[in-house]
Amino acid sequence: MRTIALPLVRALLPGAGLLLALAAAGCSSIGVHHRAAREALDFGEPAELSFCVLLDEGVSRELAEELLLAWNEHEAAHYGLSVRIASFARHERGGFLTSTIARKLWAIPLPDTCDRVLFFAGYDVRDTLSWPFKLWEIRGRVNSTGTHGFIMSGLAHPEHLLRELLHGRRRTTIHELYHMLGCEHTYGRMQRCYERIRGLKHLHRVAREPAAVPGQSPFFPTYRSGSEQVLTTRRAVRAAMGTRAPAPLTPGR
Ligand SMILES: [Zn+2]
Repeated sequence: MRTIALPLVRALLPGAGLLLALAAAGCSSIGVHHRAAREALDFGEPAELSFCVLLDEGVSRELAEELLLAWNEHEAAHYGLSVRIASFARHERGGFLTSTIARKLWAIPLPDTCDRVLFFAGYDVRDTLSWPFKLWEIRGRVNSTGTHGFIMSGLAHPEHLLRELLHGRRRTTIHELYHMLGCEHTYGRMQRCYERIRGLKHLHRVAREPAAVPGQSPFFPTYRSGSEQVLTTRRAVRAAMGTRAPAPLTPGR
């Protein structure tokens, strides 16, 4: 027994150490913050990232606000980049699987009125019934243009409650927002992430004058995931997503 247990403990220790380190660093779980590296970069003047927020049945504006605006509380000051809610609208998750939710959400063209679309999915009774069969479910996801994402914001079963105690939906939301700013997972320092945020802010700043269209706020650019390509206009985002004219969104309650 002892001979089996010792190698197992040795194998698990590095992972446990990393988890402890991440927790101690107050990590976003994208990577590990490095204050000196971040503060060495000039992020320029303050900017805003605006969101069209979509709410599932049973998800309140107050909950969505609390989760999304956690960014302003914890991360905004690091980069001079805050988030703003441009609008609320109702949206149905369209299915039980996260892949189904994604497919329906990714079909919505990026509206002219915001930079990103974030859907707060609610609780489905099938979430509760299926949880014993899941090892670890997806709690949030962002599309390949970094403009559309969703957060599973319902608390449907004991694992959700446990996660809420460990890092919570606020942390999940912050994690997905980092993806929307071009940050990919790293198990080391977030240097690359800082550089990408700085780069997007710079592009947003220089594009502001010539690209401003009456009635349309200047678009905050985005990275295509897994590449160095930056999409600097809503039109480019819609083309990359294969969508055309903005779809009408049902006003929220
Ligand atoms: Zn992630």
